[in-house]
Amino acid sequence: MAGEPQADCLFCKIVSGEVPATVVRETDTTVAFRDINPQAPTHVLVIPKAHYPDAASLAAAEPQITADVLCEAGAVAADEKLDETGYRVVFNTGSGAGQTVFHAHAHVLGGRGLNWPPG
Ligand code: IMP
Repeated sequence: MAGEPQADCLFCKIVSGEVPATVVRETDTTVAFRDINPQAPTHVLVIPKAHYPDAASLAAAEPQITADVLCEAGAVAADEKLDETGYRVVFNTGSGAGQTVFHAHAHVLGGRGLNWPPG
C-alpha cells in the first residue's frame, strides 16, 4: 500500500531505528540525518517517514508531507548556518540521475562552493 514501510528499504529501516543513523532533526512526518558518504561539509538527507520511491510520487500522493520535507531542508540549512553562503537541495530521480535509494529524499548540500550545472 502506498506510503507503507517496505521491508527491503534502507531508509524505512532508518525511520524504524533498525539501521542506525546520525539524526539531526525529526518531525512527525520526516527524519533528517547525515549522509554516510558526504559530498560537502554539510550533507544531510531529509526523508519522509512514509515510503514513496521518489519525490514526484511523494508530491502526487502527499503534498503536505512534501512541503514538510522542504521546510525541514530549510531548517537544516539554518541549523548549519548555510543561509548566508547558500546551499543546494537535490532530489536525484531515477538511476540515470544517480538515485540509488528508492525512498524519496532531499539532499541538503552546503559549506563549499557548488558548481552549476551539476555533473
Ligand atoms: P541517492 O544516490 O540520491 O539515491 O542518495 C542516496 C544517498 O544515501 C547517498 O548519498 C548515500 O551516500 C546515502 N546513504 C546510503 N546509505 C546510507 C546510510 O546508511 N546512512 C546515511 N546515508 C546513506
